[in-house]
Amino acid sequence: MKSISFYPGPSRVQSEVPSYLSEAYESGILGMNHRSQPFMSLLEENDHILKEKLKIPKSYRIYYVSSATECWEIIAQSLTKQLGSLHLYNGAFGKKWHSYTRSLTSSAAKIEYDSQDQLPVADIGNPKDAVICMTQNETSNGSCIDPSLIADIRTQYPDNLIAVDATSSMAGISLEFNTADIWFASVQKCFGLPSGMALLICSPRTLNICQDIGEKDHYNSLLFMEENMKLWQTTHTPNILSIFLLNRVMSARKIISKVDKKLNKRATQWAEFFEKATNLKFYIENSELRSKTILTLEGDPDFIATLRKEASEAGLILGTGYGDLKETTIRIANFPALKKKEIKYLRDFLIPII
Ligand SMILES: *Cc1c(COP(=O)(O)O)cnc(C)c1O
Repeated sequence: MKSISFYPGPSRVQSEVPSYLSEAYESGILGMNHRSQPFMSLLEENDHILKEKLKIPKSYRIYYVSSATECWEIIAQSLTKQLGSLHLYNGAFGKKWHSYTRSLTSSAAKIEYDSQDQLPVADIGNPKDAVICMTQNETSNGSCIDPSLIADIRTQYPDNLIAVDATSSMAGISLEFNTADIWFASVQKCFGLPSGMALLICSPRTLNICQDIGEKDHYNSLLFMEENMKLWQTTHTPNILSIFLLNRVMSARKIISKVDKKLNKRATQWAEFFEKATNLKFYIENSELRSKTILTLEGDPDFIATLRKEASEAGLILGTGYGDLKETTIRIANFPALKKKEIKYLRDFLIPII
């Protein structure tokens, strides 16, 4: 039996992927040049589908890159090197973004806060021109930033660019794209796709500012990406297979408000479920700060080790804790591709143990 992956990315891929894979092969798209009409049409169609299904403003531009990590570098190269950046974070992914940026630019400021606390908006002070960088869903510890707080920051700092890493929440929960300028996510999380591609989404204002800066030193400079995407093309030969799979998966997906509702309901059911547990409790204590897509549960290290072992024997892949939380937590993905019966199987496995 194939194991069920509740790992928070790569995770369970959408069940229809095998048939989309053979469809991609049969259609001939995989052998087409990336400046050919069929490929350009695919990108144009994806633009419509993604904007419709995820409620992305029509004026925003969607680019295809290799990973969320690449997005950190693109933002640093093309924008924050000149503008500076202010990183607000409470976990390992936010910290990595800051440290990559710091090594590429000289002026990456940070506000590191406790994962049990609300984002300290009042501490932002006067960020000058800095790009305000946030990790909406901190995959390492299972905390999240409420979308309404991002909207508050937008209102308080209307002139600053705001960049949001939404890698483990985009396509899972409703995001208000117009409250920030730059959003990105890789596809191996809520999109339910094989790893190896990410989307970078930018507001028109981001591109205007990019034009003023004029950075063109890299193959993945945002200005080059824009010159190509205007023609429904990419700077280099992209992952055509992933782009095709994204098309099919997102065509079949329900609109984001429905997906959000489903995941919220499942998150509530999980919260009720773990309330009764004696060996595991949510790492993030305040339920309002808890991610809806990544459940992080804390327990005694010996218990966590046994749980992992027994889960694996039962054909369940649970996420290990991340970084400092490796020995004391497990993570469970609450991603759209997971099926009701798979969740039930995990619950039935957990009941006698926790
Ligand atoms: C998974 C993840 C990343 C890294 O994604 P890659 O595609 O491996 O670069 C970055 N940020 C967050 C919040 C993530 O969950």
